[in-house]
Amino acid sequence: MFAKTLVCATALLAFGCSGAGGGSAPAATNAPADPGAPAVQVPVANQTAPVVLVEPRDETVAQGEWACFSVEAMGDPTPAIQWYRDGAAIPGANAASYYFIPSDPSLDGAAFHAVVHNAAGDTTSRDATLHVACAGAPLFSVQPTATSAFPGTLVAFLAGTSTVSKVAWVVNGTTCQEGDTTAILSGTQTTLTVTASAGTSSTLAFPAPAAPGTYAVQAIATGSGVPVASAPVLLTVMAPVTNVPTLSIQSVLLDQGIQLPDSSVPLVANRAGLLRIVGAASTFNGLTPSAKVRVTAPGQAAQVFVIPCPGHGVPTTPDLTAWPSMTWDVLLPASLIRPGARVAVTLDPGGQNVTVPDWAIPCLPVPDLDLRFVPVVLAGGTPTLGPSTVQAAVQEMTRLYPLAKVAATVGSPFTPSVCDIATVANINQVLMDLESKRIADGALQTYYQGIWQQGIDCLYAGLGYIASPGNTSSRSSLACLGQYSASAHELGHNLGLQHAPCGAVSDPDPDFPYSGGLIGLGQPVDTTGPGLVYTDPGNPCYHDIMGYCGAFWISDYNYTRVFKALTQTTRGAGSGAAACLLVSGFQSGRGGPSPRWNLRPAFNVTTQPSAPAPAGVRIDLMNGDAVVASHTVAVSDAEATGLATFVAAIPMPGTPITGVRLNHEGQTVHLKGLTGHAAAPTMALTAPGVAHLSWNHATHPLAMVRDEQTGQVVAILGGDNQELPVAPGRTYRVELSDNVGSSSHPGIAPR
Ligand SMILES: [Zn+2]
Repeated sequence: MFAKTLVCATALLAFGCSGAGGGSAPAATNAPADPGAPAVQVPVANQTAPVVLVEPRDETVAQGEWACFSVEAMGDPTPAIQWYRDGAAIPGANAASYYFIPSDPSLDGAAFHAVVHNAAGDTTSRDATLHVACAGAPLFSVQPTATSAFPGTLVAFLAGTSTVSKVAWVVNGTTCQEGDTTAILSGTQTTLTVTASAGTSSTLAFPAPAAPGTYAVQAIATGSGVPVASAPVLLTVMAPVTNVPTLSIQSVLLDQGIQLPDSSVPLVANRAGLLRIVGAASTFNGLTPSAKVRVTAPGQAAQVFVIPCPGHGVPTTPDLTAWPSMTWDVLLPASLIRPGARVAVTLDPGGQNVTVPDWAIPCLPVPDLDLRFVPVVLAGGTPTLGPSTVQAAVQEMTRLYPLAKVAATVGSPFTPSVCDIATVANINQVLMDLESKRIADGALQTYYQGIWQQGIDCLYAGLGYIASPGNTSSRSSLACLGQYSASAHELGHNLGLQHAPCGAVSDPDPDFPYSGGLIGLGQPVDTTGPGLVYTDPGNPCYHDIMGYCGAFWISDYNYTRVFKALTQTTRGAGSGAAACLLVSGFQSGRGGPSPRWNLRPAFNVTTQPSAPAPAGVRIDLMNGDAVVASHTVAVSDAEATGLATFVAAIPMPGTPITGVRLNHEGQTVHLKGLTGHAAAPTMALTAPGVAHLSWNHATHPLAMVRDEQTGQVVAILGGDNQELPVAPGRTYRVELSDNVGSSSHPGIAPR
């Protein structure tokens, strides 16, 4: 029952991973050592002989080009380096790299090695061979690389040359050129394919032979000079794995937004869900099994989904929280997620047939959410709510909350009793006017969201009542046009959610379980949009919609709370419309030294009475000094704005009402009816589509205007505002409040 606000619109727009309000994560600390702890003695490490970490590689260079040999070594103390050519130390060659220009062709074939040395010993690197090519001869800019494979797996070797060359490949002594497709390898006929043998690159590809062992592979390039051979590399054919790994299904997750693997987050019936199979294998492998999902829903033929393996090799330690994680996924349509539907899952059908026997989908129907967007008329303009705007707002709500369907309508523009929302008092007034309209419209089960035009000066991106159990008079909120996250946030308040602790929120939910307003361990999945949005659970930017920190999703905690609110709320008995008194009021200065309750002028309306509230303020309907009816009315608190409000429709007693009294913890506010009948108001056009309502607002402080054709309340006007938009050909009924009731003036047409 707290009305809570988003902070200002500009702050909302500025939210991002690095934006303001994202700084709630605890700062990393380098805690100083406990000064009382004894000093730790670090033992002096033993000296270690040098180890060569990276051996020098063979070099092929053209005459006049730099040759470079490098070695990387470690040891304690740090080793010194000496390079040798053909066994003789090279003076001055003491760095990790030795480079020079081989001007003498006779250096072709020379061997270079390094000796690394420290106090603990010497280590000698391998001999690296220098090849000095003749002028014009091609060089291998890309050398083939050694490869390991299982029999039958396709292997490929790539060679790149510095000049256009004709490349031939030699495999275990058999030469193969482009156009050759077969060769004999160890008695097994194997197809070898050489591509692009005349150019600057060439590929050799073939299935690895059946016989395990090693095979030498080398490319020979012939340019204008003598043929040049690449470094020979080995193909190692490994023995086939005889132990087929055992497959298992670790878990099956059905996700509709934020579900956890432990099934603790409830599922909504008639809403699509992403089924994810987490499979595992006992050993490392290259298996690619498919999976099969069979769903039987009551009254429907069984549906079978076959899911190809999403990758190559079934993981031995699958981890749903890793990203990307390999799971067999299928989107189950809403028609299959129903009470009584059953799912069976098989991994590797036709093979190991690992099955999870069918189980019932544990889902509950959630009532459709009736939502009416109401354009709010303010001095800065009136928004136009087209279908795409409505759809975008509804989609944001549907993807976040456990809803199967939001039935959204757009109401007539509504003119509140103030012209602007630049102050806290005024935006509260607009919210109270909207809630009064909602109850006077008889829309007790409908959520109203007033939308104001972009660019209007406002302290907030939205404002909404926080519903409390049993309080059906907290279903109004306000949001700026196009601020879809604010729209969803304010609806969240109407659904009973408090703030998540992120950003400069007021009164965060003390039970919210995740620090920084994060969403927890659930994986955000959008099953409502045109495409499946499938986000990174490790992304630390995902924050609960009820905080101010951006990158919005919803936590499993708030998702579950909304689910309970929607499925456990007892709906109004639908007692039908009755003659009621619409009472409203607010407490200003809340939390300050002199909080004060205020009653607003009441209206006689015919509508569904508000359900009696278990707690709140007590409203006495008086005749003279006698109390003729007494009702407890729920209060929607607004700590962020220092205001608490109530709006309720109280059934009229049979006795005339001459006064309304409000009682709250010893405070009493009493309103008396004003004597005298109101003169009929008049409505004059001041501009095309705009009318001014004239009445004596000194004696009748508030006026409620209904469109007689739609029956909807289109304005609540007062001393601060008497103008409203009107439609051609329409007539209006005006109720003028004398504080404790109202007189009705039908059939007014703007002139
Ligand atoms: Zn809020």
